[in-house]
Amino acid sequence: MGKKGRVFSGARPTHRQHLGNYLGAIQNYVALQKDYDCIYSIVDLHALTTIETTLDLKQNTLEMALDWLAAGIDPEKTIIFIQSHVPELTELHTILSMVTPLGKLTDLPTFKEKIREQPNNINYGLVGYPVLMTADIVLYKADMVPVGIDQAPHIEFAREIVRSFNFRYKTNVLIEPKMKVTKIPKVLGIDGKKKMSKSLNNHIELAATPEETQKRVMMMVTDPARKRRSDPGNPDVCNVFSMHKIFSKPEEVEMINQECRIAGIGCVDCKKIFANNLNENLEPFREKRTQIGKDPKKVFDILHDGGKRARKIAEETMREVRSAVGLP
Ligand code: SF4
Repeated sequence: MGKKGRVFSGARPTHRQHLGNYLGAIQNYVALQKDYDCIYSIVDLHALTTIETTLDLKQNTLEMALDWLAAGIDPEKTIIFIQSHVPELTELHTILSMVTPLGKLTDLPTFKEKIREQPNNINYGLVGYPVLMTADIVLYKADMVPVGIDQAPHIEFAREIVRSFNFRYKTNVLIEPKMKVTKIPKVLGIDGKKKMSKSLNNHIELAATPEETQKRVMMMVTDPARKRRSDPGNPDVCNVFSMHKIFSKPEEVEMINQECRIAGIGCVDCKKIFANNLNENLEPFREKRTQIGKDPKKVFDILHDGGKRARKIAEETMREVRSAVGLP
């Protein structure tokens, strides 16, 4: 049976991935392979807009690729590659930048946020970030982009850039991507307040040891109103309970839901159950990761091979783009 279309997604090389990355993106990447031709890119060029040093870039790329492969991204079916291995991307980025209004780029909330986050490094790349992202998607003629709900405005903007290009050059060479919003758009960190993120150090790494995982789980913030073991709790406001719903068996979830409310179970025991279940769930992933990790060269071979396959598509698109633009 033929596939439903082509999916593209990219993520910055951020070393080892965490539960938030897995639930918000990677798990979806893996599932989409069944019905779509998938292209997944490790976007090292995007990373250059914010990082201060590139010394760790290669290792960060390797660690992320290992997590993707161990989680079930299959390089036989799917193209997995490094963004900078396809130079056509930067050419398309330049061409698209000419049909993108500057005011719109500098008005984007994400750009303003970056100005606040890194006032000493407001570089040109930050302004063009969404244009590079658009080029990434349309270069491979992807018709579907899986995103978290917070990314939706970026895809809408990408669609505008495509319309603007097609209108300006009276063509339909570039495809307006549709978005597929993931089911779990926001995973809270162990602080129970903010989105899970490595920079906030509120994350749980997929590849952590069972002991490290248990330690992080025991640090998780629970129902803030539950001060003593004898206080009844409210699982509806507890991040540990949200995680139980994903990783624990339905009968355990039901038991915790009832017992927490009558102080029949304490948070320490509740977290221990979650840590055990999480470790059990992650065991096959960790075994596979250790296996693949024994041969880093093979991982880079996979990424290089993916780059070649991606480039074939990119070259074809660029031939059409150059012709549509009328470049002599
Ligand atoms: S018992 Fe479990 S669900 Fe209830 S507040 Fe504690 S950690 Fe949360």
